[in-house]
Amino acid sequence: MPTLLIKNCDWIVSQNSKRDVLRNASVLIEEGVIRSVGKADSQSADVVLDGRGKIALPGLINTHTHLSMTLFRGFADDMQLQDWLQKKIWPLEAKLTGEDCYVGALLGSAEMIMSGTTGFVDMYFHMEDVARAVAESGLRGFLSYGVIDLFDSAKAKKEKELSQKFFDHVRELNNPRIRFVLGPHSPYTCSPETLLWAKEFAERKNVLLHVHVAETRREQADMQRQHGMRVIEYLDKIGALSGRMLAAHCVWLTKSEVNSLGKVGARVAHCPVSNMKLASGGVAPLPEMFEAGVAVGLGTDGAASNNTLDMFETMKVCALLHKAHRWDPTVLGAQKVLDWATIEGARALGAEREIGSIEVGKKGDIILVDASAPNMTPVHAKSTVISDLVYSASAANVDTTIVDGRVLMRNRQVKSLDPLRVQLKAEEAARRLVGGQLG
Ligand SMILES: [Zn+2]
Repeated sequence: MPTLLIKNCDWIVSQNSKRDVLRNASVLIEEGVIRSVGKADSQSADVVLDGRGKIALPGLINTHTHLSMTLFRGFADDMQLQDWLQKKIWPLEAKLTGEDCYVGALLGSAEMIMSGTTGFVDMYFHMEDVARAVAESGLRGFLSYGVIDLFDSAKAKKEKELSQKFFDHVRELNNPRIRFVLGPHSPYTCSPETLLWAKEFAERKNVLLHVHVAETRREQADMQRQHGMRVIEYLDKIGALSGRMLAAHCVWLTKSEVNSLGKVGARVAHCPVSNMKLASGGVAPLPEMFEAGVAVGLGTDGAASNNTLDMFETMKVCALLHKAHRWDPTVLGAQKVLDWATIEGARALGAEREIGSIEVGKKGDIILVDASAPNMTPVHAKSTVISDLVYSASAANVDTTIVDGRVLMRNRQVKSLDPLRVQLKAEEAARRLVGGQLG
């Protein structure tokens, strides 16, 4: 594998434990691993990238998405969640083939590479095909098959088999960039037996549990009506609450539910854009999660409810949402938001020893942001670089994306995929799926 030197970056935002921001510094990557961070001096490498005019930072981590839903982008917007799901999304999903999911995942991968995301957590169907797309794209994927049994034991049996099959498939792939995650969809689509099975499976196989929790007020109201308790209490009571849980959304939680998550060591994937677009109503209690020691990562959710996979937008919206909601501009600073999109996101995946910061020994997952663009000018000083990245930068400022020391995009030219070809295929698949439903 060629060695890679990113030479003389204007700034390196390390996101290490001291949150160091280095001036005029370089990063050397060998065998996909960061070997040095600091002055380049006389270092050389097989591939040298000029970092002048650029800010290097760890690749962004999207902790909750449904990649193949890129095919449904813009198809059904401005609707109530249940109508949206029942009338628009579920009928389309019933028609999806493995090839559709592959094409949708390629499209999502191209978008992520071009917007500075290097690692992500996915949940969907036909995951073997999603894994194929991820392998080709060069991205780092934590992939889960979405288990939905609708309280039907025959369906539950089939879903468990499909999960096991995907687990075996990922093991056979033996690709260090592709990791298996178990994906019981939610407490309202999975029976208690399936949720319990999922917890035990995750413990036995030492994997993460990816689940949707408390996305809407209705979910909590239904839970109260059916079981006389709240969602986290229910998960606790049936024995399914787990420290391996990566709970997406967690919009409607009480303080005591947040404390329960903190106590077991569960993690949260916060998806502010999707929550706002679907008008979930509540705002995830992030400051309380922080207090309770819950590891939080940021996510976009699928492109049908966002409608992008843009983590720069997600960072900014996250900061603005919580400031507006609490009437307090100090409640959430730029550094905290960047942490959630990088090192804390990695922690939420249990992968903080491998990714999430630019440090010696970590994987070479790095992006370069163009600091010379008008919207990034002026970059005043070390203390303002983080603000610039969160409040001023956009996905279009991402110049270079690197995963495992491999350059996936340089000068905004994607190398690992042909985005135009992918877009044509995606257009074709979307047209066939949506058919005559659009005017
Ligand atoms: Zn979701």
